Amino acid sequence: AKAEGGSCLRIFEPAMNDRLRTRRALVADLRVAMARQELTILFQPQVSTATRRIKGAEALLRWHHPTRGVIGPDVFIPLAEETGLIVPIGAWVLEEACHVARRWGGLSLAVNVSAHQVRQASFVDTVERALARSGLPARCLELEITEAAMLANSAETLGILSRLRSLGVRLAMDDFGTGYSSLATLQRFRFDKIKVDRSFVRHLVHDARAVALLRAVIALGSALDVTTNAEGVEDEGQLSLLQAEGCDEAQGYLFGRPMSAADFEAQLGTRNSS
Ligand code: C2E
Ligand code: CA
Ligand code: CA
Ligand code: CA
Repeated sequence: AKAEGGSCLRIFEPAMNDRLRTRRALVADLRVAMARQELTILFQPQVSTATRRIKGAEALLRWHHPTRGVIGPDVFIPLAEETGLIVPIGAWVLEEACHVARRWGGLSLAVNVSAHQVRQASFVDTVERALARSGLPARCLELEITEAAMLANSAETLGILSRLRSLGVRLAMDDFGTGYSSLATLQRFRFDKIKVDRSFVRHLVHDARAVALLRAVIALGSALDVTTNAEGVEDEGQLSLLQAEGCDEAQGYLFGRPMSAADFEAQLGTRNSS
């Protein structure tokens, strides 16, 4: 057993070192990525389930790495959070996306915000500055916050969220139902929207339990006067169930993948004009 353990260790160590080396290299690259304009923002339409009209879009980051190709946010956002780089990156996304959304004539822009950002008192100024510089009305901006963000430093975080709401910015609870404090969080703070996580939408058509859960979340939203949005809608079957259950908004590949601002604006022209 000892010999086996030894050989295991020899195989394990280089792999571990590789991973650490890759990680360190990525962090170093991420530090200069913004200045080198390697970060871009894509936009995914959010539609009314009843009419399919576009109500707005969610901004989603991409990193065009010079040698590794496109890197998704699931990989680099955690690195940005651990290193604090999320603060300048997040401020950039906000301002850049607000500038784009200014052209959309009153549609809403949803921007993802990390726990780390919401914990900083200066975040309120960052949001105000982005709105002022872009000219986007506060009511057009929606900040998507995950439950995880609410867990840490709750008193301070809640204070920052109240200040944001008094600016007129709307707040959405992202990935609803995946954490373990969804209901407690809703009790402590007034959100404007609940985003039902994709994992609840995926099995809708064939799974009665998934439908029951969705129905309960929509009832909750309606009782609390909170807009409901279902993420990850990929087919018509899911959409008709969401319509039948009275979910307000939907988002997913059925209506469009995350796309460039130009492509999103072209869709707006054709889809919302009829
Ligand atoms: P999220 O906020 O839950 O965003 C939804 C994710 O689901 C996006 O992945 C989107 O591309 C994907 N998606 C949308 N519709 C469908 C569908 O119909 N089917 C499937 N299978 N997937 C769908 P993406 O773009 O890779 O983003 C991953 C996560 O990274 C986001 O999850 C969000 O938490 C984070 N993120 C993205 N951009 C930012 C940002 O600017 N700031 C921060 N802090 N986080 C960001
Ligand atoms: Ca989101
Ligand atoms: Ca989500
Ligand atoms: Ca997510």
